[in-house]
Amino acid sequence: MHDVIVVGAGPAGSQTAASLAQRGYTVLVLEEHPQIGVPTNCSGLIGAEAFERFDLPRDSVIRGFNSATFFSPKGGSATVGADRVMAYVVRRCEFDQTMAQRALACGASYLLRVRCVGLEQHKDHVTVTAVQRGPEDGEARMTFRARSVVLATGIRYGLLRGLGLKRPSAFLQAAQAEASMEGVDGVEVYLGRDVAPGSFAWAIPAGPVARVGVCNGAGAVEHLRRFLQHPSIASRLRQPVTQIKRKAIPIANICRSFRDRILLVGDAAGQVKVTTGGGISYGILCGDIAAATLDRAFRLGDLSERILGEYERRWRQEIGVELRVGSFFRRVGGTLSDEQIDRLIRAYHDSDLPELVRRCADFERHRKFILALCRSNIFFQLVWNYFRRRSLS
Ligand SMILES: Cc1cc2nc3c(=O)[nH]c(=O)nc-3n(C[C@H](O)[C@H](O)[C@H](O)COP(=O)(O)OP(=O)(O)OC[C@H]3O[C@@H](n4cnc5c(N)ncnc54)[C@H](O)[C@@H]3O)c2cc1C
Repeated sequence: MHDVIVVGAGPAGSQTAASLAQRGYTVLVLEEHPQIGVPTNCSGLIGAEAFERFDLPRDSVIRGFNSATFFSPKGGSATVGADRVMAYVVRRCEFDQTMAQRALACGASYLLRVRCVGLEQHKDHVTVTAVQRGPEDGEARMTFRARSVVLATGIRYGLLRGLGLKRPSAFLQAAQAEASMEGVDGVEVYLGRDVAPGSFAWAIPAGPVARVGVCNGAGAVEHLRRFLQHPSIASRLRQPVTQIKRKAIPIANICRSFRDRILLVGDAAGQVKVTTGGGISYGILCGDIAAATLDRAFRLGDLSERILGEYERRWRQEIGVELRVGSFFRRVGGTLSDEQIDRLIRAYHDSDLPELVRRCADFERHRKFILALCRSNIFFQLVWNYFRRRSLS
């Protein structure tokens, strides 16, 4: 019997596995795909702070950024920056693989092509039922036993139903393509009703290609097709884009991320920055908290909800306010008209905002900046209007 089975070899799963294996527990990671990190659909931006805090492997880093340029629907732009590297862009597939290598080096084991299809909680263990897909077509059913299970299954929520847990209540749809483009030298963010109603589109240089994408409530692929025809994108495309990938991003966390002997981490628990949809660093952070909580539970000899509930308290303590403030910001930001966005962006450099960014900007934690922004002259009026409209409706 394993101490812990981790289902899913994304960043959240591998961080949990590494943290537990390092503490001496026997850890088995089950991954349904034949190769870790494949397929992938991600822009690969990770905050510099996460690299420091979790000593993340840097082999997959393409480059760092200390600024992003925001484009308004009517042609205005503002470069928002700091005097230090705020984030790195990584080759996401390689990043996941190096995270797994780190867990392997700590003593965890991985089984690929193995899809977990069922969990059964018992008094002193969990039975994990899985299906192993052979290199050809054949499938074999397998059963494992573990003292506890960590679900790090990303946006695959099928296993939650049997545990009486609910999937996150809100999602964004994201569509992204890798495009051969010229002149994308930094992170570009595009706003406006036409491009991404209530959300944003982006172009990020990533080595020989640029990652160009859109996230919004619905119709992301259609919006991306339109965005690719946007003059400032279309004029820089060297070749037509042939492949667009689509994926959902949870922007609400689940009500409960633990059960007897079971924890949920990463996208599986909706631990994602609501403002941008980025989930890598929160998943890694919560993977670490999950490992620490399980360690304590093993020592106490009690893996019941009573002890594992500590996991949820701790991760909410770390990022709960971030998620709530981010959600508020997304709601207010989503109501801005193109004219308001334009005014905000054009006024940026003559306002108190650059100083705010300098003081408060943090790639992974936006709360401090958002709260300061709400008090700034330029944004205060927008927030005021938002609440006035709400109270009238
Ligand atoms: C277009 C796009 C761009 C993004 N850009 C960024 C970004 O720039 N920065 C950022 O931080 N985040 C970004 N994200 C979000 C980020 O990709 C996710 O938050 C992150 O991958 C979550 O990590 P995870 O480990 O929780 O899940 P995942 O990375 O999804 O890993 C889950 C793993 O579990 C496996 N799995 C699932 N079910 C089973 C099962 N039953 N049995 C076995 N294995 C299973 C899957 O195959 C997968 O390997 C982006 C998302 C999208 C869609």
